[in-house]
Parts: sequence; structure tokens; C-alpha cells
Amino acid sequence: MITVDKAFQIVMEKADVIERVEIVGFNSANGRVIAEDIFSDIDIPPFNKSSMDGYAVISSDLKTVPVELEVIEEIPAGYFPTKRVINGTVSKIMTGAPVPEGADTVVMVENTELLKNGKVKILSKVKKGENISSKGEDVKKGDKILSRGTTLRCQEISMLSATGHTSISVISRPRVSILATGSELVEPDKGLMPGQIRNSNSYSLFAQCQNSDINPDYLGIAIDEEADLRGKIKKGINSDVFLISGGVSMGDYDIVPSILRECGIKIEFERVAIKPGKPFLFGTKGKTLIFGLPGNPVSTLIIFEIFIKPALKKMSANSANTNFAGKAKLEKVFERRKAGREEYIPVAITRSGGEARAMPVKFNGSADMMALTKANGLLIIPIGIDKLNAGDICDVIWFSATDPSYMPA
Ligand code: AMP
Ligand code: MG
Repeated sequence: MITVDKAFQIVMEKADVIERVEIVGFNSANGRVIAEDIFSDIDIPPFNKSSMDGYAVISSDLKTVPVELEVIEEIPAGYFPTKRVINGTVSKIMTGAPVPEGADTVVMVENTELLKNGKVKILSKVKKGENISSKGEDVKKGDKILSRGTTLRCQEISMLSATGHTSISVISRPRVSILATGSELVEPDKGLMPGQIRNSNSYSLFAQCQNSDINPDYLGIAIDEEADLRGKIKKGINSDVFLISGGVSMGDYDIVPSILRECGIKIEFERVAIKPGKPFLFGTKGKTLIFGLPGNPVSTLIIFEIFIKPALKKMSANSANTNFAGKAKLEKVFERRKAGREEYIPVAITRSGGEARAMPVKFNGSADMMALTKANGLLIIPIGIDKLNAGDICDVIWFSATDPSYMPA
């Protein structure tokens, strides 16, 4: 049996960034990681641009103010000026419009007074060059504006739009497939015969994948018989990540490990010193990662959060923070008889003042999904610790960074 840290290290070593790329529209690229350097095909701004509504002037005409100057042209945004500004004249100009030749400064409209005789009175002095954004001051034509490996946010989408990159190459997300195993399982839309339970793991895993921006393939339920399992396992290992729940513990019908071996999967580890979730198997075949998750729903969910979520993130080359770990003050004593495993228990974390507080919820063990619905995080009890006191500052992980009580470590 290996520790959580060791198991994590092994999983992360085997999780490689996906080598496939795909072309996506810039408008559906938010959160994706670009697979190419992006260059600008234009200067930004592409012309000397007024940043104010006002008058384009020659600054030396304003040595003494107020001064009256003749308005020779009106330049709205989207229009290209046709007249050169010469001494004694100005052009009326709008924000975003090109500054006409001859002018070196824009006076904002608030500092002017339009007269009836086709002239404008400039009321105050300005610094030469004021209110003009000069051509190429933000970006020069040919500049690299985004580097390969960048996770696209709204600001990068804006730059792609401004430079006309309407389709771009991004790193593909891992293809994940999900298989539930167990002859007792029926799908959620069915009634139960004696001895049956509804399959919930497939769907919690599905939702967890979606939280990682991945839409998994669903392979259904395999009964605990070799032929069915073998067929479905052979399908699953064609994906980048194969999640199998159930069938990996010590019972007579837990035949997943032997079939995995038979299918040429290298088992990297089979037991982890974690509670819940000890019978947690990790295997590889080429670049494909195979996770054999304990059937109990709480175990499956927790193992995904701790191991699989970070692996998917790494494979997606996603640099966003998804490790929502931190510290919280424990609100109730916790005791255990055996301290040989790292234990995770569901807690309700609240925030008061500058402090997170963790209250363990009523928890009947690894099948008790109901407990997890009351929890927004997990308290971590390290190996060797058999008691935590109320008031102790403890390690916790949150299920979500958008949780109002989330406080990064
Ligand atoms: P196993 O690891 O196959 O021995 O399963 C351990 C426990 O988890 C058993 O009580 C199973 O009935 C239950 N279980 C296994 N798979 C699922 C599933 N997909 N959904 C809900 N419970 C499951
Ligand atoms: Mg089973």
C-alpha cells in the first residue's frame, strides 16, 4: 500500500499533455489552451486615433487662449479625413476617428465652445500630442501577441478578435470514458428489483468531468462477468483516460484488475493508504491512464477530486488553479482508532471574519452520498494522527473555488 502523496506523484508523472490539437472558433475558445503562437497582422491602433470627442488642432495655434479657429471638416469614427489641418484651422473629431494630417493634438470638446460663424473657441491650453493614441503604440504589425500554451481568458479573446484570428489551434482535451461495473446496478430511470441499487457513480463522475470542461463518453454498466467486462474494457482503453468504478476490491466478483492485466494494462498501484478509497487502482497502457475506482460512491467522488481532477487539468495544459486547498479551524473534536491511512471526511465549511471553520457533517462512511450533499469540502487527517481537537487549524479542500467560504492557503 502506498501513500496518497506517492500515488499522486505517480499519477501526475504519467499524465502528459495531450498531443492532439484541434481548430476552434475564437468565440468558443474561452478557457482553452492555444497550441500556436499568435501574431498581429496589423498595428494597433491601425492609425493615429483620437481618444476623445473634440477638435484636432495644431498645438502651436494655442499659445494664447482663448483662441478662435476655423472648423474645416467633421470626422466621425469610421470615416477617413480628407483635409489637412493648417495653422488657423481645426477639424471636429470623434472618439475613435483618425486624426487628420497636420494636426498634432486633440482638444476635448468640454474645453471648447462652438461659435455660429463656423469657428470654434478653444478655451484652454493642451499639451502637444494629448488625446491621440498613435499608430502601433499598443501592438506593432508582426508582434507576437499570444504565446503557445496560454490559457485563453476574455482579454485574450479580445486580442484574437482585434487581430482577426477567427479560428485558432488549441490543445485537445483528454477523451474520457466512464464504465460502471456491478451486477447489482441499474440505471437511474429504472425501478429496483430486490438486491439492486441505482448506478450513481457514472453520473457523479460525469458531472465531475464536466466541472473539468470535459464531456466524457459513457460505456454503460458491465455486469461482474468476464466477457461483458472484457468487451467494455477494450473499448474504454481507446480513450485518454478510462474511469472504471467498482470491482477493484477483494470480493470474489472483483475481477476488474485481472481483466485489466489480461488486456495488457500495466498496473502502477492497486492500494492506497487513503480512507475512504483504499482499493484504488491506477494503470497505464501507452499514454492512456486507467483508473479503477472503489465502487462506493463517496470513495469514487473523493478519488476523482484528489487524483483525477489534477491529472485532467495537466493533460489539458490548463494553468488555472483547480486545487482548492486551504486551512480551516475545526469546530468539533475528531477521533479515530486506527491512524494508518490519510482520511478525508466531509465537512461544512463556513467563513466568519477572516477565518474558515470546518464542521464535520453526520457521516456513515463511504456509501453515504447523502452526507456529501451537506458538505462543501473535505477535512484531511494525516497518517499518524488519531485525534484532532476543536479549534485546531487543519487542512481542508473545497469542492469549488466559487464557494463563498473558500480561502486559498
Ligand atoms: P465494489 O467496489 O464493486 O465492491 O462496490 C462497493 C460498493 O459500491 C457496493 O456496495 C456497490 O453496490 C457500490 N457500487 C458499486 N458501483 C456503484 C455505482 N456505479 N453506483 C453506486 N454504487 C455503486
Ligand atoms: Mg462490484
